[in-house]
Amino acid sequence: MSDLHRQPGVRSGQTGDTGNRLDPWFDQYAERAQNLRASEIRALFSVVSRPEVVSLAGGMPNLKDLPLDRLADSAAQLIRQHGDVAMQYGNGQGWEPLRERITEVMSYDGIVGADPDDIVVTTGSQQALDLVTEVFVDPNDVVLAESPSYVGALGVFRARQADVVHVDLDQDGLIPEALEATIKKLKGQGRRIKFLYTVPNFHNPAGVTLSESRRPQIVDICMREGILIVEDNPYGLLGFHSDPLPALKSYSPDGVVYLGSFSKMFAPGFRIGWAFAPHAIREKLKLASESAILCPSMMGQMAIGQYLSDFDWYGQVKQFRSMYQERCNAMLTALAEFMPDCTWTTPEGGFYTWVTLPEGLDAKSMLPRAVRGLVAYVSGTAFYYDGRGANHMRLSFCYPTPAQIREGVRRLSVVVNAEKELVDMFGAGFIPEDVAGLQVIPPHPVEDIGPASDAR
Ligand code: PMP
Repeated sequence: MSDLHRQPGVRSGQTGDTGNRLDPWFDQYAERAQNLRASEIRALFSVVSRPEVVSLAGGMPNLKDLPLDRLADSAAQLIRQHGDVAMQYGNGQGWEPLRERITEVMSYDGIVGADPDDIVVTTGSQQALDLVTEVFVDPNDVVLAESPSYVGALGVFRARQADVVHVDLDQDGLIPEALEATIKKLKGQGRRIKFLYTVPNFHNPAGVTLSESRRPQIVDICMREGILIVEDNPYGLLGFHSDPLPALKSYSPDGVVYLGSFSKMFAPGFRIGWAFAPHAIREKLKLASESAILCPSMMGQMAIGQYLSDFDWYGQVKQFRSMYQERCNAMLTALAEFMPDCTWTTPEGGFYTWVTLPEGLDAKSMLPRAVRGLVAYVSGTAFYYDGRGANHMRLSFCYPTPAQIREGVRRLSVVVNAEKELVDMFGAGFIPEDVAGLQVIPPHPVEDIGPASDAR
C-alpha cells in the first residue's frame, strides 16, 4: 500500500490524518457539507424500483399520455432549424420568448400583467428554491415552513444551514393563527425569520389546499411582520375541478417570490422552472444563478417554448387532471375499504394524500416490512426538520394505475393491520424482528408497474 493510501488525503511525506478508509477527504469537507443527506425517498429507490413492488412512494408524473412522437419531431425540427441557438449558451436570466410565455401560464393563477423581466428561468423550481435560500439565508436564520413540508425544500434549507420552524396546517392549508403565534414566539426569542416557504395548492406531502379566505390573511400577516413569502406552486394547474385559486403573489406582488415549474403540467425532462420575483430580488437571483450554472439549458427552454406555442398545452393539462383524479379516487376508495383505522386528507388536485396511522404505529420502522410485503410509501418523518411525523405516511397516486393503487393499498393494509395487532398486544415500540418475518403477503398480481420513482 502506498503512503497515499495509508494516510488518505495527504501527500506522501506529509504528516496528518485527514480521512478515513472509506473517504480519504472526510475531514476536508466544508461544515455545511455535513448537512447534505440522501432524502429518505432516494434511500428507498433501489428497493422500490423492483417491478413487483407497488410504489406509492415517488412523485413521478405519469407521462404516458404525452404525444411523444410529435414531441420528437418538434425537437428534431428545433435542432435542424435553430440548432445554432438551441445548442449554444444563452443568457443567465433565461430566454426572453419563454419568459413571455411564462407570464401567460401564470395568468391561470390570477397573476395578470407580469413583467417577463421579473422572471428568472431555472433548472427546475428546485434550483429556484436553492437560489432564494442562497440569497436570503445565513446560517441559523429561520425559515418558516408548513408542518409537514416538501422534503426537497427541507434538503435545500438544511444544506444552506437554515433552521426550519414548522407551522401547523389543516385541511384548509396553513393556519393563520398558528403562523402568527409562531412568528410572535420566534421574534420574542430574537430570532431572524427570513421567509415563509409555502405550497398553497395540492400540497406535497399533505395533499391540502390553502383556502381562498386564508390567502389574504396569510399575506397580511407576513407583510405586517416584514416576512417574505416563497410560494412554491408546481401542482397549481393540476386541480381536479378547476383552475387554481388566486396565487399569494396576486395579493402582494412585492412581498412574494413565486416559483413555477413545467415538471408536472408538462414533463420534468427538460428541467425548466422559474422564479417570478420583485425586481431587486430578481436581480440577486439572476446573479446567483449565473454563478451557479451560467445559464439554463437553451435546448430545454426552446423546446418548452415550442411546446407552449405549437401544442394544445392546456388541453394536455385537462387530460392530466382527469387522469390524476381517477387515480386519486382509486386511492381514496381503497383507503376507505382496506384501512378504516387510518385517516387521510382528501386532495382536490396534485399527486398526494397524507395518511395518519392508528396511535402507536411508526411508519418509518414499518417501512422495511411494507417493502417486504411489496408496497412502498414515504414515512412522514421525511417531511419534518425535527424528527416528527412517524405516525404519518405520504401516499402518492400519480404513477401507478388505478388497479395497482388498489392492490398497493390492500398490501399496505395487511402490514398496517398486523402492526396494529402487535402494538395493541405489546405496546408501541415493540415489534420483534422475527415477528416482522411473519408478514409475508401473498401479492395479487398487478400489471408490470415500470420503474418506481426517485422524484420527490
Ligand atoms: N416543489 C415541490 C413542492 C415539488 O413537489 C417539487 C418536485 N417534486 C419541486 C418543487 C421541484 O420540482 P422541479 O425542480 O422538477 O420543478
